[in-house]
Amino acid sequence: MIESNLILKVSIVIPVYNEKESLPELIRRVKAACNKLNLDYEILLVDDGSCDQSNQIITNLANIPNSRIIGILLNRNYGQHSAIMAGFSHTSGDLIITLDADLQNPPEEIPNLVQAAQQGYDVVGTVRQNRQDSWFRRSTSHIINHLIQKFTGKIMGDYGCMLRAYRRHIVDAMLNCQERNTFIPILANTFARTTIELPVAHTEREFGSSKYSFLRLINLMYDLITCLTTTPLRLLSIIGSLIAIVGFIFSLILILLRLLLGAKWAGDGVFMLFAVLFIFIGAQFVGMGLLGEYIGRIYNDVRARPRYFIQSVIQAQKDASSIQEIKE
Ligand code: UDP
Ligand code: MG
Repeated sequence: MIESNLILKVSIVIPVYNEKESLPELIRRVKAACNKLNLDYEILLVDDGSCDQSNQIITNLANIPNSRIIGILLNRNYGQHSAIMAGFSHTSGDLIITLDADLQNPPEEIPNLVQAAQQGYDVVGTVRQNRQDSWFRRSTSHIINHLIQKFTGKIMGDYGCMLRAYRRHIVDAMLNCQERNTFIPILANTFARTTIELPVAHTEREFGSSKYSFLRLINLMYDLITCLTTTPLRLLSIIGSLIAIVGFIFSLILILLRLLLGAKWAGDGVFMLFAVLFIFIGAQFVGMGLLGEYIGRIYNDVRARPRYFIQSVIQAQKDASSIQEIKE
């Protein structure tokens, strides 16, 4: 095994938002799974501004000596992905695993993820088998996952499943990103060289209900798309240019026919009016496309994602005698 693949410590990051019923069972099962690893581990519970007693439970758990639990309490609700980022910033493991608190993905899968990462993968994703969510959630997920695959060419079938493992350098790269709205699995993939996906079980939520309302889901979908690409803005430019060209050709034809067939054919100026209109509409679309291109670039700059991320710098030790020679 090459040294960079060595995993000595695993960090489990779990965002928690009003999950007080799940917490005891969650901790019991995560600990049982981690104890099977024969590796050092830590569990980071990030309270995302819960209004039940989740934060109190987390505080109590973290205060138990040698519990290996770190509690991170956010002052208000910032959303699942921001909470995970807050957790990332306090991890010290070589491999970081994210997990939902609602036990929909079994923590018993953790050893399998660690094993896959040990084979040298930067990101280990998971695909939910027999997904236990509503028809609406499943079908929208399916369409989105399909589109992402088309756009990125990365073979990942399920971006929505948050039971995932990331190597230290991937998490460091993500922490260097300044963007406010982000979608972690996509962001991680932009920095990953090698990825793999494992099938995992999926169960129904045992306690409470989903923390995502319809509007929050739409918001999440936009986070996902904008995190991935500025292509929709570019589409404006491409489709706009096409409409402009068609409009321009159409107006030329109208003008030509008016000259050939006379004013009567052209509805006494009405067609000419249309011809002029088409030209203006075309110009407008071109202008909008141009704006889109600028906005896309501004958006990329405002996000201030690192342009690259150096994994390691390798340099041979300088030979003392040769330095001496150069000096002479
Ligand atoms: N979550 C969070 N902040 C939020 C919403 C959700 O930390 O604003 C957490 C939640 O406690 C759970 C995970 O994110 O651990 C996934 O949430 P949920 O199970 O409601 O999402 P779903 O399974 O419906 O996609
Ligand atoms: Mg869930």
